[in-house]
Amino acid sequence: MVRENEIRHGEKAIEAPPAQDAGLVFIGQICTQWNSRMETPRQGRRDGPICRIELFEPWVEGLENIDEFEELEVLYWLHMSRRDLVLQSPASDGETRGVFSLRSPVRPNPIGTSIVGLVGREGSTLLVRGMDCLDGTPLLDLKPERTRFTPIAPPQPGDFEVG
Ligand code: SAM
Repeated sequence: MVRENEIRHGEKAIEAPPAQDAGLVFIGQICTQWNSRMETPRQGRRDGPICRIELFEPWVEGLENIDEFEELEVLYWLHMSRRDLVLQSPASDGETRGVFSLRSPVRPNPIGTSIVGLVGREGSTLLVRGMDCLDGTPLLDLKPERTRFTPIAPPQPGDFEVG
């Protein structure tokens, strides 16, 4: 069941230690059609609607060469999530699981990741399919999808396992 910020039967909230400054910078925002968690997909789909990833300055120049890739990994900050539930009841039926066995948005550091299809680029904005976040979700990072990325630098010891 989709969660707002409630605590369900059997769940366990802890007193989270104060956040330390990991130095994260929001480099943009993700614009989607979803304004409520109740209507946002659990996981993005490659045939989902086109969403817009807007980069802020001074990061726009970092989009150079991005169009060489059909698939990107998007990392984002699920900014509306509570962060204190170590045991969670996804079905709200009293059965609980540990947070690290779930892809729940409720986590100590609410980082979301999605593999999206790159549909196009309009200046500082990428058009993608495959997102599952609220409109205005802060953007943390973009990377080429790992299986489609060949390192640019020459291989080094440890890159390949000789069988
Ligand atoms: N694909 C990501 C992952 O696996 O890391 C996120 C998955 S999470 C299950 C997606 C859900 O998080 C959505 O269905 C919605 O309920 C919730 N959500 C989306 N954007 C959010 C935001 N900005 N803050 C808090 N919750 C959000």
